[in-house]
Amino acid sequence: MKALEDKIISEGKVLPGNVLKVNGFLNHRLDVPFIKEMGKEIARLFEGCGVNKILTIETSGIPIAFAASEEMSVPVIFAKKHKTKNISDDVYSVEIDSFTHGNTYTAVVDKAFLNEGDKILIVDDFLAIGNAVKGLIKMISSANAETVGVAVAIEKGFQNGGDRLREQGIRVEALALIDSMDDSTVTFRK
Ligand code: 5GP
Repeated sequence: MKALEDKIISEGKVLPGNVLKVNGFLNHRLDVPFIKEMGKEIARLFEGCGVNKILTIETSGIPIAFAASEEMSVPVIFAKKHKTKNISDDVYSVEIDSFTHGNTYTAVVDKAFLNEGDKILIVDDFLAIGNAVKGLIKMISSANAETVGVAVAIEKGFQNGGDRLREQGIRVEALALIDSMDDSTVTFRK
């Protein structure tokens, strides 16, 4: 998505440790009209694939998933990163190593919301090493549901998570796929 590539170049900031900061439109302030455009593009890519639910993970996957859900007319479920009191004990739960925080957290989804036979599209803001997406795929498998594909706003291709998933036969679509980045240049895979 050319508009996203342009926005990354004009507004993104590359931080030490291979972290791209896009707080101006995605991770802190939300550019709602722009996120809606990303939702439209995700819906276009997965049109006709029979998706009946979107699964994302809090926090920054939620706005993109919301935008895609509006276009696709399917509900969104977001995995919670903390098991709060308002969630039942009957949950799918996975341990995920966080790339940005350098820790491990437990993500949970109430079993009531993932059902056998569901055809699920995973949506997230970033795909780096792939741990978050792998965790969500694990939950989907535990529910005997199907992962139809993965749609992310930004994939950092040089961290190989996306390509590893593609090698396993999983459809992964990135609206912007970064091949390399340093503090002065971001290069996209075409
Ligand atoms: P992965 O599990 O694929 O290594 O990392 C994906 C998760 O880490 C995403 O859900 C995202 O929140 C976060 N993340 C990974 N890389 C970046 C990055 O460069 N910038 C930001 N803002 N978040 C990232």
